[in-house]
Amino acid sequence: MDARTYDIEGFTEGLIENGLMVPTGIRGAWGRGPVFEDILRGFDDLVTRTAAPDNAQVLMFPPILARAMIEKVGYMDNFPQLAGSVHSFMGSDKQARELSAKVHAGERWEDMLSPTDVMLTPAACYPVYPTFTGLLPEGGKLVTVVNWVFRHEPSDEPTRLQHFRMREYIRVGRPDDVVQWRDAWLERGLALLKGLGLPVESDVASDPFFGRAGKMMAAGQLDQRLKFEILCPVISREKPTAICSFNWHQDHFSSKFGIRNADKSVAHTACLGFGLERVTLALVKAHGFDPADWPQAVRSQLWP
Ligand code: ATP
Ligand code: ZN
Ligand code: MG
Repeated sequence: MDARTYDIEGFTEGLIENGLMVPTGIRGAWGRGPVFEDILRGFDDLVTRTAAPDNAQVLMFPPILARAMIEKVGYMDNFPQLAGSVHSFMGSDKQARELSAKVHAGERWEDMLSPTDVMLTPAACYPVYPTFTGLLPEGGKLVTVVNWVFRHEPSDEPTRLQHFRMREYIRVGRPDDVVQWRDAWLERGLALLKGLGLPVESDVASDPFFGRAGKMMAAGQLDQRLKFEILCPVISREKPTAICSFNWHQDHFSSKFGIRNADKSVAHTACLGFGLERVTLALVKAHGFDPADWPQAVRSQLWP
């Protein structure tokens, strides 16, 4: 099987046969073999080396978010269809025995669970915004995070996962500085990915806001050129996959979290996210299932 033909089933089979991905029985949830992880880590390291001169503050968060945060950022208004909630058992001894009996009898038992205070993180940047609250230093701030994120979009496409990793950079500061940073990173991201032999292009994009009102929001986002994506053919030539996204939120987060510039004006935020599994799959699609056979110019960047 040649990784380079556009046949979703064949590509998926090749990924499994070559030990890159391991089926779990859940749609959009795969185990990753060591080669897959080597590629993913190699790419993430290349990104962080490329961005090192910017001196981003490095933060790490658990892949859960306070339910109150999900509410505050408007996630349930905009993307309820993608949300993932954590529930647990908080009942009595008697109810615990009932629960256990239901499980063993093959009956439904989920209604005996109650929502906890947390949800699964849907975007790696969300926990970062509250850390900016207050007056920013002159010139604003830059943070980088990597995290597992959850989205309820089960699919058989190897490029559409329910749980995946995102490397994000988050910039906060004056509107001009934030937009300039976003524009510069769009060029930098394209150059980085082209340098790895990926046939990428950028385009304006919109988020999958829920429902009819959501269509209007998506149209506004396109109109104002708030979101860009870097696209690469992975499972289809006609419908290339977004492997990196750039979002200019204007004052969406800074108004909610009270983030102001040194001169007290309302700050703007922007973020960019590399979908690490998608970049890994794009590299495999472009160069084949075995990285030992990849061009030396690509290998030397991923594993210097
Ligand atoms: P798509 O249009 O394909 O659904 P998106 O616009 O929802 O992508 P973002 O919300 O901007 O993507 O997420 C940032 C990055 O995370 C994307 O550029 C992509 O690389 C990756 N990504 C998004 N959704 C998935 C998914 N379901 N599985 C794997 N990677 C994903
Ligand atoms: Zn983000
Ligand atoms: Mg999406």
